[in-house]
Amino acid sequence: CASQSSWTAQASSQMAELKTQAAEKLPDPPEEILLPEGWKQTLPKEQHLWVSKALFSRDASGKLKLTEALQLWWSPPGPQLLYSQPPAFPDPFFHSRLFLWMPCHMWAYRLPCANPNCRRLGNYLRPCGLYNTVRRVLDMSGWYFMVTEYLECCSCRKKVAGWSQDILDQLDPIHREKFPAVLTYSQTPGKSAMSLYRHLCVRHKEKWLAQSAEYLTVLDKFQDLSAVTAKLPQMMPVPSPSLLLTVYAKDVLTRLGEMKARVTSIYGSILKMVSTKK
Ligand SMILES: [Zn+2]
Repeated sequence: CASQSSWTAQASSQMAELKTQAAEKLPDPPEEILLPEGWKQTLPKEQHLWVSKALFSRDASGKLKLTEALQLWWSPPGPQLLYSQPPAFPDPFFHSRLFLWMPCHMWAYRLPCANPNCRRLGNYLRPCGLYNTVRRVLDMSGWYFMVTEYLECCSCRKKVAGWSQDILDQLDPIHREKFPAVLTYSQTPGKSAMSLYRHLCVRHKEKWLAQSAEYLTVLDKFQDLSAVTAKLPQMMPVPSPSLLLTVYAKDVLTRLGEMKARVTSIYGSILKMVSTKK
């Protein structure tokens, strides 16, 4: 029976070797994306992994948990410094920043509910999780993403998003100032919507070209690019001059002399402008 046992030993060692090879060759299982369902729908797919890793984990019961180390601005890790093989996707070269706006959670505000009856009775809003929609916000040389908390009246159950004007207006100026002002006419050479539009187009294009160039430079170092199938992402178009003007006009109308920054949401994006403080 000696030959039998040596055959078995040989077979099992071969089997182990095969298993090791298989383990080496198998690609890593896709990492679990921990994001609220609404975010998965509204945040572009290429941003999912880094936002998931930066902001979320699972608690002991398996529920999605927001990190306790909160901050307003979150920067993506960006591309690796060195690549030993061509990056399969250009995503890290095109990631955008994320702004997390949770004034009540972050600074422990107890803001009154806007309902007149509630206001009279002193009913307040309490944080009830994250708002389901991610907003894309126009910036000088690109876009960033904005997310916020959802607040609920403890009595009438009315809900409001943390970035709503009613909430912003009630914050201390120090906190209010932290809400990002995105575009100012003072940052542009001309004063018209058309010159702002042209300026934005140039800056957006420059940024996109720089990101593309960095990605292509990395690919250029490799001979075999057969594993690289992903295309460069499209540049997100800058909103039209008339849309920029509409937002600015609304901004001026709603400020009525007060230098309040104004958020206007159009077509799922926020365009925000503050005129020069004279
Ligand atoms: Zn209420």
